[in-house]
Amino acid sequence: MPRIIIIGGGISGLATCHYLKKEVPEAELTLFESQKRLGGTLGSERVDGYVFERGANSFLTNHPETLDLAIELGLEDRLVAPTPEAKTRYLLKNGKLHPLPTSPISFLKTPLLTLKGRLRILAEPFQSSESAEEDDSVASFGRRRLGEEAMRTFLDPLVTGIYGGDVERLSMRSAFPQVAELETEFGSLLKGMIKKRFRKRTETNKKSPDSEQSKAERPKRQLLSFKTGMQELIETLEENLKEHIVYPYKVTRVIPEKNSYTIRDRDGNEEKADAVVLAIPSYRAASMLAVNDPETSQAFESIPYAPIAVACLGFPKSAVKHPLDGFGFLIPRDQGRRLLGSIWVSSIYPEHAPEGHVNLRCMIGGARDPDILNHSDESLQEIVLDDLKPILGIEAEPTISRIYRYAKGIPQYNLGHLDRIERIERKLWNSPGLFITGNAYYGIGLNDCCREAKKRAVAVREYLKTV
Ligand SMILES: Cc1cc2nc3c(=O)[nH]c(=O)nc-3n(C[C@H](O)[C@H](O)[C@H](O)COP(=O)(O)OP(=O)(O)OC[C@H]3O[C@@H](n4cnc5c(N)ncnc54)[C@H](O)[C@@H]3O)c2cc1C
Repeated sequence: MPRIIIIGGGISGLATCHYLKKEVPEAELTLFESQKRLGGTLGSERVDGYVFERGANSFLTNHPETLDLAIELGLEDRLVAPTPEAKTRYLLKNGKLHPLPTSPISFLKTPLLTLKGRLRILAEPFQSSESAEEDDSVASFGRRRLGEEAMRTFLDPLVTGIYGGDVERLSMRSAFPQVAELETEFGSLLKGMIKKRFRKRTETNKKSPDSEQSKAERPKRQLLSFKTGMQELIETLEENLKEHIVYPYKVTRVIPEKNSYTIRDRDGNEEKADAVVLAIPSYRAASMLAVNDPETSQAFESIPYAPIAVACLGFPKSAVKHPLDGFGFLIPRDQGRRLLGSIWVSSIYPEHAPEGHVNLRCMIGGARDPDILNHSDESLQEIVLDDLKPILGIEAEPTISRIYRYAKGIPQYNLGHLDRIERIERKLWNSPGLFITGNAYYGIGLNDCCREAKKRAVAVREYLKTV
């Protein structure tokens, strides 16, 4: 009976364990997690009727992986969808919130751009793609396709909102591969989007000529959570996998042997495995492999991370003048605030706040504010409130708050990311039986983590057939 060890009990490790149980049912499976709780950066705290999320607030259904996992776990009835009001997203400009344009007409009218900026967007299909570098930063891609003003106004906060990243350093091809592909394939974003939409519609109609039916089949792009928060996903995985999970257990070394690996913990205890899946942040993988293989560990170490803090704040509804009629807002860098943005959780999922109260989630830090975590929790909350209060017309102090801080919170897919991954993969070819997964490599979203977990389980199954 083969023994497989998974290191790391975040969503990547847990999902890998879930899929391995199905792919290699005969294996002895063990998952080691160093902390006293599972979930890594994912998980919720439920306090006084509020659901406060430590990390991810929701997952998108434009890709099926997290939804598929939730359904497999029997959580379909526990899912919650956003309210229709949560559709509107805002951007801050000159102290005021403006709805983010979503249609070509609203782009032409938006006060977020000058007339020159709007006309430059219209010229996007006529911009040459010849000057495209193989690995462009998001900023340089945005300047070339949409112009400086649209890049600063829209792409900069988008990069902050997803990666806590620096638009000048983040790699377009690694961070937004599908958008980069539109330029390569169609020479223009706009032309690409129109052609892709047309293609999809034709394909759907071919599959099912009945137009009503084909409309129903089209996957809806929604941001889902669970009735009592993302923690439900972690709790259910824990319950289903409990005989395989050991925590707290901090692995310090992974030592390759002939056809197997020895896993050592901080007290010197050792375990043997035929295959090992590292589902931990890349810098942790670096230290685990360091002594035996400095070159591989250096490749893992070279993936940078940005610090991030999440402030979850509760107020009585009456203390907030703004109607909170939307999803929340982001702040472009040129607006000179330290707050990156705020998600109006109780407007999206009303069940995540007690009746008559609002649940606001705010982000600070990121690649361009690397010293943010030198502040105490009190000081972080003050920084958030100094920016938040005038924007939303809040005059009271929060009645409840939680601060979650991550010194290395979000991996940064900066320029050269694909080369770094290639170096790591080349090294792994020489380490049969050693596998990596997690948000450092092939995508940071929950869908990416679940997709890669499933792929890795299949790869382990195939590997075990060869030994
Ligand atoms: C603030 C924030 C907001 C986010 N929002 C969203 C969102 O809304 N939607 C979305 O799709 N994604 C979001 N993400 C991204 C997504 O949540 C993460 O990419 C994902 O949860 C990462 O999971 P992971 O298992 O790969 O890594 P982690 O969660 O980092 O898990 C790694 C695990 O390995 C363990 N470990 C480390 N070292 C050892 C060791 N030596 N021995 C044993 N165990 C060890 C850690 O304790 C941890 O539990 C967000 C991320 C953050 C930080």
